[in-house]
Amino acid sequence: MKTGTCRCGNRIFFNNHQCLSCNAKLGRCTSCNSLTSLSIKGNSTHCDTCGTQAHACINHAHGVCHSYNAELNALCRWCEYTDVIPPLSKPDSIHRWAAIESAKRRLLHQLEDLGFPPYVADTHQTHPLRFAFLEDTVNENGELEKVTTGHENGLITINMAEADSVHRERQRVRLGEPQRTLIGHMRHEVGHYIDWAWASRVAPQRYYDLFGNPDLVDYTEAMERHYEQGPPANWAANHVSAYATMHPWEDFAETVNVYLDITAIATTACDLSQRKLDLSAKADAEQLVSSVLDIVIEVSEYNFDLGLLPLLPERLSPAVIEKLSYVHSLRSMTLAPEMATTMPASQ
Ligand SMILES: [Zn+2]
Ligand SMILES: [Zn+2]
Ligand SMILES: [Zn+2]
Ligand SMILES: [Zn+2]
Repeated sequence: MKTGTCRCGNRIFFNNHQCLSCNAKLGRCTSCNSLTSLSIKGNSTHCDTCGTQAHACINHAHGVCHSYNAELNALCRWCEYTDVIPPLSKPDSIHRWAAIESAKRRLLHQLEDLGFPPYVADTHQTHPLRFAFLEDTVNENGELEKVTTGHENGLITINMAEADSVHRERQRVRLGEPQRTLIGHMRHEVGHYIDWAWASRVAPQRYYDLFGNPDLVDYTEAMERHYEQGPPANWAANHVSAYATMHPWEDFAETVNVYLDITAIATTACDLSQRKLDLSAKADAEQLVSSVLDIVIEVSEYNFDLGLLPLLPERLSPAVIEKLSYVHSLRSMTLAPEMATTMPASQ
C-alpha cells in the first residue's frame, strides 16, 4: 500500500490517524486521495496536501474510518459502498466492523489503482458493487441463522465472525487452508464480482479455455463432491489452491485473490524500497510475478526467522501463471459495444 507524508516529514501508513512525531491529526483526504496530515484553524480543518476544507466521514464517530470529505456530514466514497452495518449498540461488533472496513478500503484503493471494476468502463453503473457485513443470529425458535460469506449480483456479504482471529484460525485449520485473512476474503469475493461484472463480458472464451465453462458445471454438485472427496491429488499442477479445483468460478476467484496479493506486494515494494516494478496494465505479467517472487522468498525467510507464515504460501505452477496473466490482461480489455448492457447470469 502506498504511504503518505505528514507535514513534519514523518511517513504516514495506511491506518495511522495521529502522527507519533508531531501529534498531527492524520487521515485520507477524499479530495486529493492522499494520506495526509490535517491542520485545524479555528473551527475548520484543512488537508495539508491540497488545502481543501476537510470534514470527517460520518463513520469517524465510531472509530471505523479516518477519511475526510469536502462535504459536511457525509460518508466517504469508500464507506458509501457498504449497505449493511452491524448494530451500533454492541462495542464488540463495532470493533469487528472497523477491521472489515479497513480491509474493504484497502481492497477498493487497489481496484482503483489497478483499473478493475467498479473502476473501469461502465461497471460502476451497470454492475454496482455493494457490501453487507452481517452477524449470525438466533431466531425466535432458538435456532442459529448462519451468515454465508459470498458474492451474488454485485453484493459481497461477509460474516463478521471472520474479523475474529480465533474464529479465523479455527476455520483455517479445519479447512486445511495455508492462510485465512480478512483481506483475503475481500480479494476472493471481489474475484467473483470481477468475473460477473467484467471477465464474462470482455473475454469469456479465453476464460473457458483456462478455467472451464462455469455453465457446464453444476455448482451444488461440484461443492458436494469437493467436500466429500477433496481435491484431485495433482491439483497444484493446474490450480492455485485446493479450493480452486471445486468449480471454474472458484478457480477464477482464487486466482484473482493471488493476483491482488502479488500486485499489493509490488505496490508496497515500489513505495517503500524504491524498487522499480512495472505494475501498469501493459506490464509483462510473467516478469511482474517473477520480480514479486524474489521479494516473497526474501520476506518469507524473515518470517520464518520469527516463526511466522510465508509471505505468499501459494505455489505458482506455469499453468497458474498463465491464469494470473489472464487476470492481468483484463485490465487492458475494452467492452465490445454489443456487450455494454449485458447482465450475465448471477453467481
Ligand atoms: Zn507529523
Ligand atoms: Zn487533500
Ligand atoms: Zn468513511
Ligand atoms: Zn468463492
